[in-house]
Amino acid sequence: MKTSGIHHITAIVNDPQVNVDFYSRILGLRLVKKTVNFDRPEVYHLYFGNESGDPGSIITFFPWPKLPKGRVGTGQVGTTTYVVPKGSMDFWENRLREYGISLTSNTRFNETYIGFEDPDGLKLELVEREEGPDNSWSSKEIPTKYAIKGFGGATLNSVQPHKTADILENVLGMEFVAQEENYLRFKTDASLGNKLDIKLSPSVRGLPGAGTIHHIAWRAKDEKEHKNWRTLLEEKEYKPTEIKERNYFKAIYFYEPGGILFEIATDPPGFTVDEAPEELGTKLMLPSWFEPKRKEFEEILPPIGVHFGK
Ligand code: ZN
Repeated sequence: MKTSGIHHITAIVNDPQVNVDFYSRILGLRLVKKTVNFDRPEVYHLYFGNESGDPGSIITFFPWPKLPKGRVGTGQVGTTTYVVPKGSMDFWENRLREYGISLTSNTRFNETYIGFEDPDGLKLELVEREEGPDNSWSSKEIPTKYAIKGFGGATLNSVQPHKTADILENVLGMEFVAQEENYLRFKTDASLGNKLDIKLSPSVRGLPGAGTIHHIAWRAKDEKEHKNWRTLLEEKEYKPTEIKERNYFKAIYFYEPGGILFEIATDPPGFTVDEAPEELGTKLMLPSWFEPKRKEFEEILPPIGVHFGK
């Protein structure tokens, strides 16, 4: 079995409005789903992605307004990488600077990455690539020729880099590309969310909390493959959870040996299972088992205004 790469990345932040403003307005992503955390329904679960909410473009957030800050470090995803079209980096550097965001620049595997942080301190970066479909969720401010396509990949801050490498290669079926100084690179066959870099000498130990990534999810193409992965993980004693119903996909979770929480999520059914494609993200969507409590949730959850790209 081979994963196509990243399905989604989930992070914890504080203020939902600050989060929505940054990802929908400044980065120009589409809020494709506004729901609640199925395990803690008193907080939102917000999903942002490309226009159709494709796997490989989805970043999701649990905004807990009063949660203390965590620390980015080992046992976590370090940096989330977004792909932008070739020739668009000047546009993005100018745009981010206009919003007062400081930028860094680094090179790995012959690509230049522009690094910055979101308002909660999550580490993000942009890289120009030819691959990946254009994102038609565009606006006057961000036309399609500049729009973020989705994930280029991520860096993984493992406490045991070689054991994490083993699981990417031998459980998830990724292909080892090369080692360069501090990084091991793996790739998949997909055109988004397809390049994963394991950092070989990560610094401090990560602490969970706001401003950190909670987990990274890998794609399974259907439920059959998903079940097979669960069986394989059990055989290898990674102790996966039961299969959980997440409405938009099915999920299993396990800790890889480097301390990072991994999820495997099915591509189907996707975000149009309960909303029409043109209405994605416009309403608070609840799974059937929470629907009787809608009024209660709507009173607890703070109202959020969304900038729609179109
Ligand atoms: Zn997840």
